[in-house]
Amino acid sequence: MQNANNANIENGRFSNGLSDAQAERLALLSEEMGEAVQAVGKILRHGYASVHPDAPEARNNRVRLIHELGDVLAVIQLIKDAGDLDVGELELAKLDKLRRIGRYLHHQSVSSCWLT
Ligand SMILES: [Mg+2]
Repeated sequence: MQNANNANIENGRFSNGLSDAQAERLALLSEEMGEAVQAVGKILRHGYASVHPDAPEARNNRVRLIHELGDVLAVIQLIKDAGDLDVGELELAKLDKLRRIGRYLHHQSVSSCWLT
């Protein structure tokens, strides 16, 4: 049931309406996106090639970002496979962003193949 604010109310309590599996996928997405943001922050502060000084055997920041973005892509795949989001709409949103972002870029261009 939904109240006047379109909030889901079940047994008198608010519910986000998510299944346990959907909530788990979103939790994973949030976690992995946070880790990717952290990896980007390290690169902005110290560079791609930098390695944590207390763990010189650890992966450098470039490799860490690759792994974290791979984690994000894996969770996006889980979300797509489960049908939580429409794959076609997701692709259209990506293409729309590629078309819109060009005018705001200062140091690079968007491939013309995305502009049609
Ligand atoms: Mg991760």
